[in-house]
Amino acid sequence: MMGKKVVVTGVPGVGKTTVINGAMDRLAAEGVIYESVNFGTFMFDVACNENLVSDRDEMRKLGKDDQKRLQQAAASGIAAMSADANIIIDTHSSISTPAGFLAGLPEWVLRELMPDVVVLVETDPDQILMRRLGDASRARDMEGSRAIAGHQEFNRAIAAAYAMYTGCTVRIVENADFLLERAIDDLADVLR
Ligand code: AMP
Ligand code: MG
Repeated sequence: MMGKKVVVTGVPGVGKTTVINGAMDRLAAEGVIYESVNFGTFMFDVACNENLVSDRDEMRKLGKDDQKRLQQAAASGIAAMSADANIIIDTHSSISTPAGFLAGLPEWVLRELMPDVVVLVETDPDQILMRRLGDASRARDMEGSRAIAGHQEFNRAIAAAYAMYTGCTVRIVENADFLLERAIDDLADVLR
């Protein structure tokens, strides 16, 4: 039996990983098992071996060709995982790089992953800005809420292209302040 492949995306600081973990716990309690893989971690393992970076937040500053090579390596690593497993792929619709937005799922990545659903975790840009300011564990980009809003808009636009290419559905999950449980409910619905 083919497992379900769900790609979960959202701008840095929106709380993707938190929502994913909550939804996985909820589903596990119902006997629905998902594995979660972090696309950036796959890339980071390769980048570390090549001594390209020492921090995962440095990868988006690398040259475009390096980023695309790491991206390709991550996509084939993830595609090699069991086709029977239900998989959540924690990644980005687009990456904000110094040279502009880079597609998180360009055609050669989509061909490997062929997701059933692409989820966009979103919330109010001011809330994202505050979450970034409060997160000392990551080297988040310093940008204003207008720029964050523009990034979220671009992510929706490019997700439409992913739907055109694969026939996947696109689901928006709002992760608003104080409403994490609602976001978890919404993601769990997509996963069931
Ligand atoms: P994250 O921990 O999800 O913020 O991801 C860390 C870093 O991994 C991001 O800042 C990107 O540099 C890289 N990354 C993650 N997913 C992708 C992707 N699909 N394509 C290109 N780079 C990615
Ligand atoms: Mg994360």
